[in-house]
Amino acid sequence: MVRAIVGANWGDEGKGKITDMLAKESDIIIRFQGGSNAGHTIINNYGKFALHLLPSGVFYDHTTSIIGNGVALNIPYLFQELQSLKEKGVPKPKILVSDRAQILMPYHVLQDTYEEARLAGKSFGSTKSGIAPFYSDKYAKIGFQVSELFDEETLREKTERVCEIKNVLFEHLYHKPAIDPNELYQTLLSYRDMVAPYVCDVPAYLHEALKAGKNILLEGQLGSLKDPDHGIYPMVTSSSTLAAYGAIGAGIAPYEIRQITTVVKAYSSAVGAGAFVSEIFGEEADELRKRGGDGGEFGVTTGRPRRMGWFDAVASRYGCRIQGATEAALTVLDVLGYLDELPVCVGYEIDGQITRDFPTTVKLNRAKPVYETLPGWKCDIRGLKKYEELPENCRRYIEFIERELNVPVTMVSNGPGRDDIIMR
Ligand code: GDP
Repeated sequence: MVRAIVGANWGDEGKGKITDMLAKESDIIIRFQGGSNAGHTIINNYGKFALHLLPSGVFYDHTTSIIGNGVALNIPYLFQELQSLKEKGVPKPKILVSDRAQILMPYHVLQDTYEEARLAGKSFGSTKSGIAPFYSDKYAKIGFQVSELFDEETLREKTERVCEIKNVLFEHLYHKPAIDPNELYQTLLSYRDMVAPYVCDVPAYLHEALKAGKNILLEGQLGSLKDPDHGIYPMVTSSSTLAAYGAIGAGIAPYEIRQITTVVKAYSSAVGAGAFVSEIFGEEADELRKRGGDGGEFGVTTGRPRRMGWFDAVASRYGCRIQGATEAALTVLDVLGYLDELPVCVGYEIDGQITRDFPTTVKLNRAKPVYETLPGWKCDIRGLKKYEELPENCRRYIEFIERELNVPVTMVSNGPGRDDIIMR
């Protein structure tokens, strides 16, 4: 059985926590897209971890963690992350890396950094992890697959060819030093030695695993609204964040994905530029940011303060629909216990007309929020284990959101820890 865990919003919904929790009952956890540009925060018996590239299943000894072909694989980063687990006493996880995954190159990071600097005030708010240049090169067919590391002659020839292209950009557009193809080739050989023990034909492995009735989790990064096709283009990421892409980025049949657990945040937060209709500012935002997540809403990769907003039913309903959500997990609800009342964005006003449908970016940029206000519950709900124990106004908020989403809310997360969960 395959289950996808994906985000309905702009990312940072708490997918890592839900994955870590559900991994307990799973055999295999797969990252199928993205790279080290976004982080998952996980708190468990080993401590607090910010994982960027490793799947959130690495903390159990019964699971296999897989980097799928859809991922932007930063090899030294992967090893650094494995090392940090070791230092904190986590038993060595079982890791497999797809032989078809492509390698995030040192020049991708440079190109991303140079380009953000060139765009200056008009930048996308990239994390400068090289993700956009990586995926551009993949589709321009000048990327490097893991398998190519094992063919020295072709690798050397290709390294030289790609450097020619990159160096035109580096020297003439960015006025930066050229890449030395020999040095790059040596770097790639060192990558090969690092990754060699983990390389695997992942689709074949998964085919056998499915036949054997294994439980598989597909772990998404970011959320629906950052999807390059269905999100707030161009303020999106460069790989698909949707459950549907899980089939491609892991290498399984689409019909194998039976459950799509869509993680929905009980308020809104976003990083990077782009329209954010229910955004709040000033003290109101500072207060929510300070109380949000676990120790404040600051980016796991960059440390940047996240942009904050009220729950956006228009965006979240769209986010669930485009994921094909079969169920929703509502997270960080505990954070909202301080509020007297909770505004919920139930519509967008665009050019004098109110809509409940999420528009394309051009219109989205003109949208103003229409709010409905619900009463707060004014207490701490952490530690509660049963839905009935939640205060009435809290249940009203959940049930209001559930009606707006048109998806059953099967899990309510009321704290950052593995066991802070209310199953319905
Ligand atoms: P992800 O990328 O979707 O995994 O999300 P992040 O890890 O970036 O952000 C979620 C943040 O919220 C992390 O700091 C989590 O520890 C924290 N978190 C997750 N669920 C809850 C919750 O229910 N309550 C609180 N207070 N924090 C949570």
